[in-house]
Amino acid sequence: MKILVLNSGSSSIKFQLFKMEENKSIASGVIEQIGELDSSIKIKFIDLNGEVSELKRKSEIKNHLEALEIMNSLLIESKTITDLNELDGIGHRVVHGGTFSKPEIIDENVEHEIERIIPLAPLHNKAHLDGIRVIKKLCPNVKQVAVFDTAFHSTMPEYAYMYALPYEAYEKDGVRKYGFHGTSHQFVSKEAAKYLGQDINTFNAITLHLGNGASMAAIKNGKCIDTSMGLTPLEGLVMGTRSGDLDPAILFYLARKNNLSIEDLDIMLNKKSGLKGICGSNDMREVEKMAEEGDEKAQLALDMFAYRIKKYIGSYSAIIGKLDCIIFTGGIGENDIDTRLRCCADLENLGINLDFQKNNYKATEILNIGKKDSNVKILVIPTNEELEIAIQTKKLLK
Ligand code: ADP
Repeated sequence: MKILVLNSGSSSIKFQLFKMEENKSIASGVIEQIGELDSSIKIKFIDLNGEVSELKRKSEIKNHLEALEIMNSLLIESKTITDLNELDGIGHRVVHGGTFSKPEIIDENVEHEIERIIPLAPLHNKAHLDGIRVIKKLCPNVKQVAVFDTAFHSTMPEYAYMYALPYEAYEKDGVRKYGFHGTSHQFVSKEAAKYLGQDINTFNAITLHLGNGASMAAIKNGKCIDTSMGLTPLEGLVMGTRSGDLDPAILFYLARKNNLSIEDLDIMLNKKSGLKGICGSNDMREVEKMAEEGDEKAQLALDMFAYRIKKYIGSYSAIIGKLDCIIFTGGIGENDIDTRLRCCADLENLGINLDFQKNNYKATEILNIGKKDSNVKILVIPTNEELEIAIQTKKLLK
C-alpha cells in the first residue's frame, strides 16, 4: 500500500511517499520557488536494496499543477511508482481545520469548509486547497484525506479553549483557541507511551514541540486538554520570530503612540519578534553562539525562551495532576542539549530530574534523558509528522 503525503505551501510543496506495510518512506522531496524563474525540485528515493539516490531539476515551474506534474514524472523516472493513479491514497497536511476533530476524506463539503476558514490561516489553507484541487485534476480516482494540525487539540474542554471576550466573538467570529502542531504532539505522545510500555488511554504527558514555531500541549489520558498556541500560531511560547504571549494592551499602546497600522503590528508580532526581536537572530544555533561570545541580548533571548517554557511546564503540571512524562521534539527539542538543560533546571519539585550525561546527545532515535529516579520520565523523540499523516490517511481509507 502506497500513500503520498503532501504539504502544499504558497511557493513550495513538500512530499513524502510511504510504503505502509512497513511504515517506511521510499521517496521524499521538495519543490521550491514555485511561480519564480529559478524554481527547483529535489527528490530522494530509496530502492529495494535500501540504496538512497537523489534527482535534482532546476527550471521555471509556473504553478502547483506544473509542480505536481513534474513530481509525478520524477517519481515515475525513479521507478518508485508507475503513475500517481496507482496510489492508495494521498494525505494532505492542513494547518487550520477549524472545528474538525479528526482527519476527513476530502469531498466537496470538506473542501468548502477548508475554504471557509481561510481567514483564520490565510497563507496556509489557501495553498493547501491549491494542492488538493490540482491532485483532483491529476488523479481524480485517488482518495484524498485532509489531516488537520488543529484536530488533536479538539478534545480541549470549553473552559480551556474559550477566551474571556464578549461571547459573540466566539459565536459570530469563531474566536477560540484551536492549537497547532497537533500531528506532532499526537505522534510523539503515542511513541512515548509505546516506548514506556504504558497504555495511551491512561498516559499523562507534556509535549514540547520546539522548532522555529514552538508549542506545548498538556495531555491527560492520551488526549489534549490544553495547548499554548491559540486562534493562530502566535500565542504561547517565545518563538524564532513570534512573540508568543503578551499583554494585548501593548498593541493599542504602540499603535497610538507610533501611529502603527494593523498590518504593521501583524508583521511586528509574527516576523520581527521572538528570539529575532530580542537579539537579531531567529536561528537557535546562532543565538547560542552569540551568547557564548558574550552577547548579552542573545543570553537574554535564551533565558526568556526557557523561562516561558518553564512557566508552561508548571501550569500544565497543575492541570494534568500526576504527570508521567515530558517529551522534547522539533529542531530545537531534538538537537539542542543546552535548551533542554535550561528548560529542566530546578524542576525537581515537580518530579522532573534531568540526567546531564544522558542529555548530552542529539536525538536520532528516542532518548531517555531523565535520572533513574526521576518521577517524571524525560524523553527526546524525533517527530515525524509526515508518517503520522500517512498512518491517519491509511486508517481512514481502510
Ligand atoms: P520548523 O518550525 O521550521 O520546522 P525546525 O523544527 O526545523 O523548524 O527547527 C528549527 C530550529 O531548530 C532552528 O532554531 C535551529 O537553529 C534549531 N536547531 C536545529 N539543529 C540544532 C542544533 N543542533 N542545536 C541547536 N538548535 C538547532
